[in-house]
Formats: sequence, structure tokens, C-alpha cells
Amino acid sequence: LSERLGGILDRLTGRGSLSEADVDAAMREVRRALLEADVALEVVRSFTDRVREQAIGATVVKSVTPGQMVVKIVHDELVKTLGDDGQTIDLNAVPPVPIMMVGLQGSGKTTTTAKLARRMVQRDKRKVLMASLDVYRPAAMEQLAVLGRDLDIPTLPIVAGQMPPQIARRAIEAAKLGGYDVVLLDTAGRTTLDEDMMKEAAEIKAVANPHEVLLVADSLTGQDAVNLARSFDQRVGLTGIALTRIDGDGRGGAALSMRAVTGKPIKLLGTGEKTDALEDFYPSRIAGRILGMGDIVSLVEKAAANIDAEKAARAAEKMRKGQFDLNDMREQLLQMSQMGGISGLMGMMPGISKMKNQIAAAGIDDRILKRQVAIIDSMTREERKHPDLLKASRKKRIAAGSGQSVEHVNKLLKMHRNMADVMKAMGSGKRGPLAGIAQA
Ligand code: GDP
Ligand code: MG
Repeated sequence: LSERLGGILDRLTGRGSLSEADVDAAMREVRRALLEADVALEVVRSFTDRVREQAIGATVVKSVTPGQMVVKIVHDELVKTLGDDGQTIDLNAVPPVPIMMVGLQGSGKTTTTAKLARRMVQRDKRKVLMASLDVYRPAAMEQLAVLGRDLDIPTLPIVAGQMPPQIARRAIEAAKLGGYDVVLLDTAGRTTLDEDMMKEAAEIKAVANPHEVLLVADSLTGQDAVNLARSFDQRVGLTGIALTRIDGDGRGGAALSMRAVTGKPIKLLGTGEKTDALEDFYPSRIAGRILGMGDIVSLVEKAAANIDAEKAARAAEKMRKGQFDLNDMREQLLQMSQMGGISGLMGMMPGISKMKNQIAAAGIDDRILKRQVAIIDSMTREERKHPDLLKASRKKRIAAGSGQSVEHVNKLLKMHRNMADVMKAMGSGKRGPLAGIAQA
């Protein structure tokens, strides 16, 4: 987002403070970007409201442009909402410190339990016991036992017939007896947010009195992230969030949603299936991911172009019919200068940079755009519609009226013919006005 939206707004505004219209236009794009990043609707709304409030009327300090200013406000608010850097698991308690994992089935609780245990053992030199409280899914307990064996980290022996709170009690007893620093409780999820799961989690919590309760959530959770996080926080009480599958296609919008509704920090990121794929959370990195990927670029490009779709459609229709008159050309020239002139246009259109030299050779710059518009402005309506009317005497009048030479008027007319020809030939006018200009 940053550079592109920045550059675009610069061209569009270039004023000393941000107007409501500028900010609204920018907010529409930010809103779409957030929704595409899978941020929950209610969070998007409150977020853009906050940003809007800060942005409107914000005075733009001399060293930055209005666009950079908006981007900065958006980015800062995003980072602020996402929380502080490097929030980690808190082990400051009397050992064995119980840590409880909650979340939906398949969200990555068991995997994250093993990852966290591995990190605490290998990096932090702690003595860790893992316990599976998942008595429902076949082989769930065995899954954790296998991970433990691979990592050489002990797991609580499986005893058939016990309910989760009982197992939690047994795990803590075993951890005390064994002199462990930490005991990780891997609970059972359900496929949906259901009452059984919440009740069970609350019971386990009451028994284990965990120092941390981490909600493990898939980063691909879309609009549901809000309900998920809110329910677990209200019913069980969370101390943090572990976001898994950040290595997937997700844009990380769930991070913003869950953080915004619970206010609880995101403490861990799962970046892969292996047990070493665990990272700390850095808000600026996720902020970049939420705003910075593919789609936003095209959105921002659209904002930049600032093209009235209806006008464009009308122009295309005229071009198709070969009726591209000087009024249309004027429209095109104005749009070009709105988009930052030739240089601005070239910055936005990937393919066009090849024409750079050609355009430079033709001596086209933004001053010329203005001059050309001035010449057209000096024509009568009839003349604009029917350039054929323009014989020597009329050209002289127009040149005088616009403060240009007859030669400039001729150049403009030649350029118009080129553009009209090219557009007619192209049919759809896909190559845009530059093709004609470059030949003028
Ligand atoms: P649980 O039901 O919440 O215990 O979920 P599991 O820990 O069993 O994980 C479900 C699936 O997700 C497994 O196939 C894991 O390998 C996979 N998984 C968990 N975390 C990640 C992650 O961060 N990235 C990827 N790519 N896969 C993950
Ligand atoms: Mg599991």
C-alpha cells in the first residue's frame, strides 16, 4: 500500500491539509483492502472510522506529502491496533507453570503445543511436560505422544476413561512431582463454537488455574474470527492468541480482528507444519501483510487513476465509432494531468515504461499538457466538435486567444488526428491516449 497509495494521493491532492473528500476516497480503498485481507466487517468499520477521524484535517507537515500522511496514519493505527512488539509467553510464576491451549478442532493446538514445548526446552532450557486432554478425537492423545517422542519431550501417560478436568489435575500433579518448569495442556476442540467446548474449557481452567490461556486460531479464519475470539475470551478468558498457518495464503486479517475484539496480544505465529515453525509476533510485519500484498496494489492504482468510469465508457464508445473530437481529447489531457501527467502515468502503467524514451524524444511534459488544454479552451464548441473547420484565420484567433503560436495549434491538431486514428484502429482504445501522443 504505502508507496503506491502515497504517490497517488500526492498527485491527486498536493495540498497542505487533507480534505474530507480525499480522506473518504482513501478510506474506501483501505476498507476494501482490509476486507480482502479477511478482516471482520465490524473491525474494518471501527478501524476506518478511527483512521478517518485522525486523517481529516490533519495538517501535513512540510517534509511529507498528503498521501504519505494518510498512509502513515493507516499504518500506525494498524500497528497500534495489532499491539506491541514481541509479546511473549509469560513464565513468571511458581513452577510448574500451567499453560492451556484452546481453540477449534484442527486449528493447530496439538502442533502448537509441541512447537512451544520444543522452543522452551531447546531455547529457554526449561523442563516441560505436555499433556493431551483430547478424549474425543481418536488418536489425538497418541498424536501428542508421537510428537513428544520425536522431540524427546515427555508427555503425560495416557490413562483410559478419565475426563479432561481430571487429566488436567493429574498433569499438574505429575509436573509438581517431576520438578517440571512448565506443563502444557492441549485441550480438545470442536468443529464449531459450541457450548460443550466452552463449558469444558472453563472447567479445565478452574482446575488447572493456568498462567496463560492461548487461543490457537487458523490465520485463514475469516469473518468468524470475531465470534471465535470473543466467545473464548468471554467464556474462558484468554491471555493471548497463537495464529497458525501464517505460511498459507491468508493475509492475516484474522490477527487484526481477534486482537481488536479481545484486546489480547498475539503471542505466537505458526509458520509451518514442522515443530520448529514457530515465530514471535511483530505487528509491523503483519500490518505489511494485511496492506501490502498484490490486491492492494491494484486497488491503489485504481485510486490513482481517478478515472470516472462513466466518462471512460463514453469515450471508448466514441472512439469505437471514430468520433473522437477535441472535447474528448481535452478530457483525456485533463485526466492525464490529474493522474500526475506523463511521468505519473508512466509510473502507474507497467508496460508503458518502454515508451519512455519515445515520449521524452517527442518533448512531452506536463507543461505541454496544460498548453494543449489552453488551446482547446480557446476554440468554440463547433470547432471542438469539427476540427476540420479550423482554417488559417481561425487558427490565428485561437493561437492569440491561448497565448500560443499557430505552430502549436497545428501540432495539437496533428496530435488529435493521430490519437483519433490510433483509437479508431484500436477499437477499444486499449493503448490509451499515450500512443497517439508519442506519434505527435
Ligand atoms: P488441533 O486439532 O487444533 O490439535 O490441530 P493440529 O495441531 O492437529 O493441526 C491440524 C493440522 O494443521 C495438522 O495437519 C498440522 O500439521 C497443521 N498445522 C498446524 N499448524 C500449522 C501451521 O502453522 N502451518 C501449517 N502449514 N500447518 C499447520
Ligand atoms: Mg489436537
